[in-house]
Amino acid sequence: KSDKIEDEFIRLLKEKNIDDKVDIVKTGCFGLCEAGPIVVVYPEGTFYSHIKVEDVETIVEEDLIKGNVVKDLLYKESISEDKIKAIDEVTFYKKQERVALRNCGLINPEDIDEYIAYDGYVGLYKALNEMTPENVIEAMKDSGLRGRGGGGFPTGLKWEFTAKAIGDKKYVLCNADEGDPGAFMDRSILEGDPHSVIEAMAIAGYAIGADEGYVYIRAEYPIAVQRLQVAIDQAKEKGLLGKNIFGTGFNFDMEIRLGAGAFVCGEETALIASIEGQRGMPRNKPPFPANKGLWDKPTLINNVETYANVPQIILKGSDWFKTLGTEKSPGTKVFALGGKINNTGLVEIPMGTTLREVIYDVGGGIPGGRKFKAIQTGGPSGGCITEENIDTPIDFESLNALGSMMGSGGMIVMDEDTCMVDIARFFLDFTVEESCGKCTPCREGTKRMLEILEKITDGKGELEDIEKLESLAETIKLSSLCGLGQTAPNPVLSTLNYFRDEYLAHVQEKR
Ligand code: SF4
Repeated sequence: KSDKIEDEFIRLLKEKNIDDKVDIVKTGCFGLCEAGPIVVVYPEGTFYSHIKVEDVETIVEEDLIKGNVVKDLLYKESISEDKIKAIDEVTFYKKQERVALRNCGLINPEDIDEYIAYDGYVGLYKALNEMTPENVIEAMKDSGLRGRGGGGFPTGLKWEFTAKAIGDKKYVLCNADEGDPGAFMDRSILEGDPHSVIEAMAIAGYAIGADEGYVYIRAEYPIAVQRLQVAIDQAKEKGLLGKNIFGTGFNFDMEIRLGAGAFVCGEETALIASIEGQRGMPRNKPPFPANKGLWDKPTLINNVETYANVPQIILKGSDWFKTLGTEKSPGTKVFALGGKINNTGLVEIPMGTTLREVIYDVGGGIPGGRKFKAIQTGGPSGGCITEENIDTPIDFESLNALGSMMGSGGMIVMDEDTCMVDIARFFLDFTVEESCGKCTPCREGTKRMLEILEKITDGKGELEDIEKLESLAETIKLSSLCGLGQTAPNPVLSTLNYFRDEYLAHVQEKR
């Protein structure tokens, strides 16, 4: 759809002889999916939403030629307040702080010069010319950045472990195997700002002593793959990847490896096995990848969003980064906001923002004035959070304390009409499908749990089935080999905890 809109702009600008006066920049995602396709006219930043090909002529005639705002095409918030709003004043963006998404929706991701114009590769230049590898690791540790892929492990510490590990060869990996249902943060960063990840991986290579990197990305993300490849090629042409970067003698090169869509390949040891050409299955840890990773060499692995923060931390300093977020969880987090919410889309908020602010201020509340019931964070590994905890500040510890987790950043809102037993069944169905089958508790246990859940939702359940569910869930959590199995029962346990009455209602319906 957006391609057709772009074509129409190109055609009309040419026809009106103003193609030398107006630049068309095709960007990555603006975040506000609900309002797409979006056209923003600069320098004013006039925000037009839900654009159709037929609207292009009006924008060209009225806005670009005559300088009038086309009120009918303005985003709904602008219309309701009867004044013209620039992009920064749209409520959806007001409480957001864009660090990882800083260039998404702003630059053309296929033009390295646009990335460079927004301080791109200056962090890498600074690291190579003004910092030792130890300085870079200290900066990362001091920033307090924690892994955005879900675990929340301190990034600087991981870099330090890999730097100190002994090996004649080391690797830097990027985990872009995003697989949570409803999550698309990593995809959006790679589609909108791929150079931020390339720059970060080169900085990481310098810090840990690696000269080679791989981005492991799911093949179902063709646009992200294509833009990342364009970005890698352009970085090589400019001498920002390859031999003797900035004339410093530092060498770093990278390649893409495609995943075939197995959710378990997001687990780091399974991802490494898959790059090596083996079946993507997790293995026991230790040894950790920092000591024994890709081809048994010390390997650093971070996810896309974690890397997207790195150039800014090196450029602006760890003190700047710590001004955002909370003491234990500095910085921001990107969430994919979906479900029963008005403003579905991608949001980046400072850690410590409350769930209420995300749902009502950023997300615009629940459609049709319905009542909020719960929000699921952490995707299939997480749990639901209810009204009584809606003022919880979002950080790693607070979400864990509520029996949920940050996860990679999926946030699904449910309203009063949602059946929570169905929600639990949906997520469990997903993990049963995605279990790699290596260990019995996950392979067999989750299947048995799903059978019981289906029995309950079909109105054939007994009271003791609920107890069986709980007991199985605890066993699977304790005895599964990897995070997939260890967290698979979470949606069931969490809905049982907060919405036991709904399980009971299903069981009693039968009588
Ligand atoms: Fe495979 Fe599940 Fe065991 Fe992980 S927990 S190794 S996904 S069977």
